[in-house]
Amino acid sequence: QIQRALRTLSIPLERLHVMKGHMIEDMCRGLSRQTHAQAKVRMLPTYICSTPNGTEKGNFLVVELCQTQVRTLLVTLYGDGNLSPQMMYKIYDLPEGITQGEGEALFDFIAHCVTQFLSETTSPDASSEQYLPLGFVFPFTCQQTQLNKAELLSWSKGFNCSGVVGKDVVELLQAAIDKQARPDKEGEASGGGGWFKSRKSSQSAPSQSRQVEVVALMNDTVGTMMTCSMEGRACEVGMVADKGSNCCFMAEAYLVETADETSGRMCVNTEWGCFGDDGTLNDLVTPYDQAVDEESSNPGEKRFEKMVGTLYLGEIVRHVLIALTAEKAMFTGSDAAVLKEKGVFTMQHLLEIVNHEDRITEVKRILEALGLQPSERDCGRMQQICRAVVGRAATLHATGLAAILSYMCQTRDLESLMVNVGVEGELFAGYPRFEEILLSVSRLLAPECMATILASRDGSGRGAAMVTAVALRLAAQRRAVDEVLAPLRLSRDDLVKVQALMRDEMGRGLGKETNPSASVRMLPTYVTHTPDGTEKGDFLALDLGGTNFRVLVVRITEDGITMASEIYVIPVGIMQGSGEELFDHIIDCIIDFQTKQNLVTQMLPLGFTFSFPCQQVGLDKALLLTWTKGFSASGCVGQDVVQLLRDAAKRKRHLGMQVVALVNDTVGTMMACGYDDPKCEIGLIVGTGTNACYMEEMKNVGTVEGDQGRMCINMEWGAFGDNGCLDHLFTHFDQVVDETTINPGKQRFEKLISGMYLGEIVRQILVVMTEKELLFQGKPCPKLQTKDIFKTKFLSTIELDGDGDSAANNGIGLDSNGLALRQIRAILNELELDASFEDCVLMREVCQTVSLRASQLCAAGLAAVVEKMRESRGVDQLSVTVGVDGTLYKLHPCFSKNLQTTLKDLAPNCNVTFMLSEDGSGKGAALVAAVADRAAKE
Ligand code: ADP
Ligand code: MG
Repeated sequence: QIQRALRTLSIPLERLHVMKGHMIEDMCRGLSRQTHAQAKVRMLPTYICSTPNGTEKGNFLVVELCQTQVRTLLVTLYGDGNLSPQMMYKIYDLPEGITQGEGEALFDFIAHCVTQFLSETTSPDASSEQYLPLGFVFPFTCQQTQLNKAELLSWSKGFNCSGVVGKDVVELLQAAIDKQARPDKEGEASGGGGWFKSRKSSQSAPSQSRQVEVVALMNDTVGTMMTCSMEGRACEVGMVADKGSNCCFMAEAYLVETADETSGRMCVNTEWGCFGDDGTLNDLVTPYDQAVDEESSNPGEKRFEKMVGTLYLGEIVRHVLIALTAEKAMFTGSDAAVLKEKGVFTMQHLLEIVNHEDRITEVKRILEALGLQPSERDCGRMQQICRAVVGRAATLHATGLAAILSYMCQTRDLESLMVNVGVEGELFAGYPRFEEILLSVSRLLAPECMATILASRDGSGRGAAMVTAVALRLAAQRRAVDEVLAPLRLSRDDLVKVQALMRDEMGRGLGKETNPSASVRMLPTYVTHTPDGTEKGDFLALDLGGTNFRVLVVRITEDGITMASEIYVIPVGIMQGSGEELFDHIIDCIIDFQTKQNLVTQMLPLGFTFSFPCQQVGLDKALLLTWTKGFSASGCVGQDVVQLLRDAAKRKRHLGMQVVALVNDTVGTMMACGYDDPKCEIGLIVGTGTNACYMEEMKNVGTVEGDQGRMCINMEWGAFGDNGCLDHLFTHFDQVVDETTINPGKQRFEKLISGMYLGEIVRQILVVMTEKELLFQGKPCPKLQTKDIFKTKFLSTIELDGDGDSAANNGIGLDSNGLALRQIRAILNELELDASFEDCVLMREVCQTVSLRASQLCAAGLAAVVEKMRESRGVDQLSVTVGVDGTLYKLHPCFSKNLQTTLKDLAPNCNVTFMLSEDGSGKGAALVAAVADRAAKE
């Protein structure tokens, strides 16, 4: 019989595996918005989103409501990173009966302890500090909606005060504390004066003049986690193995669907004591557990806790003994009536028995003291039973822990997880093998995870101070971050204003008289038609001024367009040499290409994509206004670029081509998309730089003769604002970035938007945030001082999945959120930055702010364009397509979406479709040539 009893108490590994799986399922159920209400493992959000980083400093008050006491604690943190706070504490016994009385009396008492403690621990003139933040450790199940908002769901552990369930306990405590501060109003006697020797109110004046604010409420489990977080590395799991049992951990915030937080992590209070209340544990529950449950005050509830909590372990042993005595397997021939008495075996007894491995005499003494007459054999069996019950409790804790560790590892998308687990409680402290079992069993069940157990030395109080400190640090940091980023955040009004300004500048750029003073050049392109799909023939195209110099042949047939191309290098010496050298080199490349493509015998029309600002005076006549992008070939500015190319061809005696059109890359983009979509009448580039073109009514183009039809206008909108009209938008960061460019004061709009600058803007913000100690704990990072070290493509990586949208796609939440954060880490490592998780989250916010502003400004510009088109065409509703090119637009995860949403908002009467251009500068240039050809024939 004894063997059978022991067997039922030992759980095979496979069963533990199954239980771990159930625990994970229940955790998921608790986190999901749909199933949360029915879930037994409640997974309550705590609104604690950060662990201490050592910079916290100041005085923090903690009040902890315990089983029979109120503990008050004053913690002074120095923010010096070595995390050894100064602490003063005092314990007050709860008055008889208060746990069953009125809620108000309980909170008045707690508040009174606080007042009393303060008047004793702080001398009247010790501190000029008026504000004292307080952390409240409240070890009951609460539904939190903020760090300082917690509705009590139910009392437990023998507490049952009236009028508290359903109320915000932070508010109740704050009210009680405020009441203490005004004893004259409410009357101190009724407030709780009866519990202490009466004091003259003047005596407590110093503390009462302090403003005590309840900043944070937390569960004792959370306090434990935070206490252990101070030991250097962050502690991300807290476990209390005490009278009750509970565990909390840092979960990915987006998985906590019951809270709105989506970025970063949040501590979740699992309330795992209720695991099994839906029958999940039935196959592990023994008849002894059953009996314990039936005799408890809350049968059917907290099934897991009743198998592992020290409040119940003695009872389990008692029921094993009752059963064995009835089966005559123990205490034969002696009176065992004492076993009927609930609670005869205390945890203290159990621990004495299990911890004295060989001392049968000890067991005998304990049993005899209880009035039993054990035989030698009974004592041995008693020892075995106690070990089995306590060992099982440890094993079950380990299984729960394994579930949490595996879940953390999985949801962080890690192959292995190293984590610190803070533990406290009677079972942990009193049973030396607990830690060993916890580690070995959890290792068996979650081999991918490596837990380090940290003993919480000072209970949850120190942790509560940390939570409070972290909350204040985060609040202060939030204010500081907002202050830094505020100038970069544009309101709708700002954008409406930008749109109006752009519209003004467009008008001025188009006017003959006003053009010279407009910052938006509005250059005529002499492209008067977009493709209609009937174009045909073979064309050459040149692409100069993009990332690569290319020569292409484009074959346009009824069945579509085919192309072949080759990239050629332009050596820096030639880029910055003489114009003749440059154009000779270009002709050499064309000859080489035509030779390779067997195209030497033909005379092909050539479209020349030349992505530099030009004053066009005809389709094939364009004066270079200025070089950009590192080109500086002499003798070209002010010259007709087409003529320069023709001259070079003449010098090289190359007859295989005829330059038909000079095309800006925006125009090429519009034309390339126009071939597939006749509604495409706008071209947009958001790559290294930004620019746009669109089809304008000739009657509006004051700079070109003629009123008939339309002409494509190359806006050169990158220069928008160069006349100062956008000065109000430029931030300190924009100024610094501008000053370090080769063209300060120029291309101001572009410098807020395009790929060449966004990384730099982010870098400048990071530099300032580091200086302000908002990032990297203020550690200097020399690499961040290097210009262009922060690439714009980093923004794309960092912002990937930043909105957590994809979180819902798969059950356990294995999305790329964790992945993206890991990639942020990789980027930061490259920059030799030691970034915490929070640093990563903040960096993401910085990137989002910068890219959002860029996309919104771009949208404001486009809004001006489409609205102008709509008005000149006299329609209520305009349907138009924008052909877009540029790596930033194409690869950034949110840019296009943000651009489109903002545009919809700013130009609600325009229905704008975006179409990605494929090789606009090649295909587009050929199409310009082809359309010109077609138009000429017409
Ligand atoms: P160009 O405008 O010279 O024709 P692109 O359209 O390819 O060239 O744009 C190049 C710009 O795109 C570079 O300034 C670079 O910073 C930016 N860029 C490159 N990769 C990415 C990316 N993954 N996400 C966002 N921007 C990028
Ligand atoms: Mg390009």
